Amino acid sequence: MSEQDRDASNGMMLSRWRELMNDESKQLTSEEKEAGWHFCGEFDGLLVGPAEDAEWDCCTCFTQEEKDAFLAKAKSNES
Ligand SMILES: [Zn+2]
Repeated sequence: MSEQDRDASNGMMLSRWRELMNDESKQLTSEEKEAGWHFCGEFDGLLVGPAEDAEWDCCTCFTQEEKDAFLAKAKSNES
């Protein structure tokens, strides 16, 4: 795995993200769902997960408290 393959902000590999976005037969694992990943209705089904970016900020699928908890969890898993 190369460094470039790492999306350090939210823990999901870029290659995995692309796979899920490009292949409809691929499903999120329960672990990914528990981490807050989902195909966001707010963004036409874009795969959105806990990160300090505009999509996550604007996503209304979760309450702010839930989102804060997901983000805190994602951060604690870093490194
Ligand atoms: Zn969403």
